[in-house]
Amino acid sequence: MNTLTATPLSDRIINLTESATLKMAALARALKQEGKDVISLSLGEPDFDTPEHIREAAKKAIDDRYSKYPPVSGYLELREAIVQKFKRDNNLDYTTDQIVVSTGAKQSLANVILAMLNPGDEAIMPIPYWVSYAAQIQLAEGVLVEIPTSIDNEFKLTPKDLEAAITDKTKLLIFSSPCNPTGSVYSKEELKAIAEVVAKHDELYIIADEIYEHITFVGKHESIAQFDFIKDRVITVNGLSKGFAMTGWRLGYLAAPVPIAKACNKMQGQFTSGACTVTQRAAIEALTGTLEPTYTMRREFQRRRDFLFDLLAEIPGLKNYMPKGAFYFFPDVSSYIGKSDGTTTINNVDDLCMYLLNDCYVSLVTGAAFGNDSCLRISYAASEENLREAFARIKVSLAKLK
Ligand code: PMP
Ligand code: GLU
Repeated sequence: MNTLTATPLSDRIINLTESATLKMAALARALKQEGKDVISLSLGEPDFDTPEHIREAAKKAIDDRYSKYPPVSGYLELREAIVQKFKRDNNLDYTTDQIVVSTGAKQSLANVILAMLNPGDEAIMPIPYWVSYAAQIQLAEGVLVEIPTSIDNEFKLTPKDLEAAITDKTKLLIFSSPCNPTGSVYSKEELKAIAEVVAKHDELYIIADEIYEHITFVGKHESIAQFDFIKDRVITVNGLSKGFAMTGWRLGYLAAPVPIAKACNKMQGQFTSGACTVTQRAAIEALTGTLEPTYTMRREFQRRRDFLFDLLAEIPGLKNYMPKGAFYFFPDVSSYIGKSDGTTTINNVDDLCMYLLNDCYVSLVTGAAFGNDSCLRISYAASEENLREAFARIKVSLAKLK
């Protein structure tokens, strides 16, 4: 039963799905506070410190008295730095009036989804998708259209399935590459094939979430906005949380056609007035300074992915593939559904996720939160010691299920 129904709250909030990633992280935190030895692999949060040169820039910003309201869409110097970043990293040309800086990529996404969807408009997403897209579409009263994908294709959207899902109500296609939760990365050819389908439908726009851009293990990151025939219908979302280990600083940004950027600016002007000034000054340093710390983190994520891939292969009953980016595994665990340890019966992936939390104190996120009923998401943004221990515990707990 929904415990909020007897309160004065709106239907909007009562019906809103809680963020499963944040919920699992909170559950893990609560168990830790009870003294349990919990290993949290639920939150997608780099376990590194923000690089020193960025921290220094923030300290300087405080001393330089960056304490007044910033322009709603972000300081001009920061938007210039973002324009340069798009040129440097993605060979994309934008102007500063196409850029809007927000309080995390999550807010960039909320701005654009609320700014673009009318009630009843359809937003297409390949399953699995990141949790908050669905909730934000719901808030905008849009209709979520889910496209099933296959683990054999690393859960990537095919042009054929995309074409079949498009109707005259379809307004948005939303996806991430590198992908949360699958770790999949679309190649340039795959992106081009998707862009070609979208190009045939004039009313259809793409939100390309590239927040894991710097955590890719297959060479250069590819943006779907690189295809000129589609660029004016792409909204590219990015942010500093993942590539610069700045989750708590809350800085995201988007590049969009000017009318959409202006709409996001208008939306944000009524919600937050803009992102934190100190964070914005630090972001200029992050985007124009050395990327060496980012590359060091990426190498470490890749090293972990490699040894964890072998450890996962040693656990019976899982179906897996090699993720190409981000910091997640998304193995199919459906062979454990229907099993029991004698006390707890596993009826679905949610049960399995909770079983692992309660049995061996490892917190993961259920695939159901991402629209998939067969998988669990494992974040490897954790120390090697914790990861090895967690994988050993998972193996023992799963072995108890008969
Ligand atoms: N998109 C994806 C795919 C994510 O995993 C996240 C989680 N950090 C976000 C957007 C939001 O990032 P933030 O708000 O921290 O910039
Ligand atoms: N994006 C991260 C995740 O998927 C952080 C949590 C969140 O922002 O919801 O775990």
